[in-house]
Amino acid sequence: MTLKTFDDMKTMNSFNFAGKKAIVRVDFNVPLNSSFEITDDTRIRAAIPTIKKILSDGGSVILMSHLGRPKEGPEHKFSLKHLVSDLSAKLGTPVKFAPDCIGEEAKQAAAALKPGEVLLLENLRFYKNETKGDPEFAKKLADMAEVYVNDAFGTAHRAHASTTIIADYFPENKLFGYIMENEVTSIDKVMKEPGKPFTAILGGAKVSTKITIIENLLNKVDNLIIGGGMTYTFIKAKGGKIGNSLVEEELLDMAKKVTEKAQELGVNLILPVDGVNADKFDNEANTNTSPIDAVPDGWMGLDIGPKTIEKFSEVIENSATLLWNGPMGVFEMSNFQAGTAEIAKAIAKATSKGAFSLVGGGDSVAAINQFGLADQVTYVSTGGGALLEYIEGQVLPGIKAIRGY
Ligand code: AMP
Repeated sequence: MTLKTFDDMKTMNSFNFAGKKAIVRVDFNVPLNSSFEITDDTRIRAAIPTIKKILSDGGSVILMSHLGRPKEGPEHKFSLKHLVSDLSAKLGTPVKFAPDCIGEEAKQAAAALKPGEVLLLENLRFYKNETKGDPEFAKKLADMAEVYVNDAFGTAHRAHASTTIIADYFPENKLFGYIMENEVTSIDKVMKEPGKPFTAILGGAKVSTKITIIENLLNKVDNLIIGGGMTYTFIKAKGGKIGNSLVEEELLDMAKKVTEKAQELGVNLILPVDGVNADKFDNEANTNTSPIDAVPDGWMGLDIGPKTIEKFSEVIENSATLLWNGPMGVFEMSNFQAGTAEIAKAIAKATSKGAFSLVGGGDSVAAINQFGLADQVTYVSTGGGALLEYIEGQVLPGIKAIRGY
């Protein structure tokens, strides 16, 4: 299959921003403590290369973002002005601030920007028009600039004014920032032209939140590994004994159907063979290990067992493409994290042998960071919900708005 490459689109590297004002949608939705200090600046750091490229070309930058979930209009705790000093330090240049993202003051500040200067607009979500995708609101933002750059993958699955609608006002001059470009390239590589064998590893608590992903992946993968709490719905559907383990009774039929569909399509659906059980949901619980379909009464499975780790690792280490979403057990508790840690190591090992590995979706990112292996996989996705919708096979409005599909 031939993919449309970035060659036929404008890209950060090929675009010359000299003398141009670029309005850039960033994801500065960072956590702040009660003194309004940033407690995790990952998202700000990630956006710096895009901003610096525009500035070094001789362009100027107007930054827009959301922060938190303001209810009705402006709220001090959600003001982006709390980010100004940190951002200025990271860019090595004073960042100007507009206390309203639209209106006369923002307009004038944008008009006065000189090459090399940066203006940060106040929180877009102080206006309901943002999440409603209001074209008039989008136009007010668009009127301040000549180029639109979307570098907020985390909101690419939302058709908001600043992520999607605004692109209509820049039919020629719209492009992905570096974060978006990397995300889209990496996910497309896995979903559209994976090297074979392609193995997806899915874990986490519930089948219900992953069912669309499972169905879409069945058409693409050679191996589908299932771990975590999801396991037990599949095991019960096969007639196994699962004790007090997590189960979604209403999905037992669905689990059977998925198992049959995998067989029809020749996909290896690989379930755990053993598990680590606990007598309560607590790190200090008593534990034992049992076959996955023979959990003793009164016990619950909270991690995959040693035989499973061995089995999963072998499949992973013989794969050319890996997609991992969701922990193999309750990795937040030290006594039930071994399964997730060992699978993360197997993915890192496969990567060192040349496999392409993509890790994404909330908890797997937290896990890979916790085990210090983030730099030993090919790509760690920054977009939780956006990534999951993309691997469900949905077209994300923020991506479509730029490249047309
Ligand atoms: P999700 O958001 O669906 O990816 O689920 C992530 C959560 O699943 C984590 O908080 C894990 O602690 C939890 N989890 C993983 N395995 C199990 C299990 N066997 N029983 C209960 N919860 C689990």
